[in-house]
Amino acid sequence: MSKILIIGAGGVGNVVAQKCAAERETFSDILLASRTLSKCDQIASRCARPVQTAQVDADRPEEVAALIKRFGAEIVVNVALPYQDLTIMDACLAAGAHYLDTANYEPRDEARFCYKWQWDYHDRFLERGLMATLGCGFDPGVTNVFCAHAQKHLFDEIHFIDIVDVNAGDHGLPFATNFNPEINIREITAQGRYWENGQWLATEPMAEKRRVSLPETGDSDIYLLYHEELESLVLNIRGLKRIRFWMSFGERYLTHLRVLQNVGLTSIKPVAFEGREIVPLQFLKAVLPDPASLGSRTKGKTNIGCVFDGIKDGERKRVHIYNVCDHEASFKEVGSQAISYTTGVPAMTGAMLMAKGVWKKPGVHNVEILDPDPFLEALGPLGLPWRVRDLGPEETAL
Ligand code: NDP
Repeated sequence: MSKILIIGAGGVGNVVAQKCAAERETFSDILLASRTLSKCDQIASRCARPVQTAQVDADRPEEVAALIKRFGAEIVVNVALPYQDLTIMDACLAAGAHYLDTANYEPRDEARFCYKWQWDYHDRFLERGLMATLGCGFDPGVTNVFCAHAQKHLFDEIHFIDIVDVNAGDHGLPFATNFNPEINIREITAQGRYWENGQWLATEPMAEKRRVSLPETGDSDIYLLYHEELESLVLNIRGLKRIRFWMSFGERYLTHLRVLQNVGLTSIKPVAFEGREIVPLQFLKAVLPDPASLGSRTKGKTNIGCVFDGIKDGERKRVHIYNVCDHEASFKEVGSQAISYTTGVPAMTGAMLMAKGVWKKPGVHNVEILDPDPFLEALGPLGLPWRVRDLGPEETAL
């Protein structure tokens, strides 16, 4: 039985806390800490058993380390923002706790989507006998585990991977983001990038578009983006020739985004405003709907997964491994929409495997390095069933 500290009381923190509370056999005590205490208390009131709460500024490693020690946390799940990854990792090293997150570290002033800073902590975690699991949400997270599963069980060689993230949900508002707007918009407005034949190739933002038809979400327009899991997967999947990441967007969303970009509101460069400096994107976040408030109004489903193309027993093989998640069903269960649900459930699943010692590997690791079998065995019963669909040569061709 482990004591777990969850940092971040947003949409994802809400799911992680409730799912941990349901795991009575694994987690003896749960502490939910975040910048705003009232949000922690609100989430705790939804949990199936008592969850302690605390206020913490996760930008301050000494504050986090003191909290870890005071509570006696063995595992820290970081579902605050990517800006806090390194300070929370520092705190885990100082206080002797394992670490898990769902998004790579990001400096505030530049969108980089790169693991280097966190990989640099590998030797320090190894020396302390501590484990850090990086990117254990859905994408990154479950998508990496699907890749590990395909490599271990389905293919002799994987040549092409297309990660496809379709959100066919509708919240009925003209414009809102499904998770933290600042992080979401940074991701989408950056250049597209993919890996082919040993090199990274860049595209203009949202320049590559395809139309796919997927189970339960139907037809969607998807766009090529750079996404952080590509960086680790090119190192860890053998024989790969190309890997890309695609995300769906509706025409209305893209039109709003184009206008916001054209008027400068998506910029992360500070500007002078009435005698002080403000970051336009942070201001935009403040006026957009809080993603947590979208849950009650979002209908429809997500389909997130990977299309693999490779060789098995000398024959060409293509499969799609995916999960379908229903926004309304997620909201009914935990009070958050499917984007938070599909991130929070894998984070709890990873933490549970670490707590049980099933995933036990000191150092800093992306999830595809770890055994996919126990994770995928647990994932369905915990709320995210997954399917493998054999594809013909042209089906879901991207
Ligand atoms: P939210 O913005 O809803 O929640 C973030 C929470 O972190 C808020 O409660 C916020 O506090 C808290 N926080 C921010 N700064 C600090 C700080 N300095 N100290 C303590 N707490 C802080 O985000 P989400 O829940 O939507 O996302 C959480 C994480 O999950 C993000 O890193 C996001 O990138 C990642 N994510 C990963 C996905 C995946 O599939 N891998 C998909 C979706 C999200 P306050 O309430 O005061 O603002």
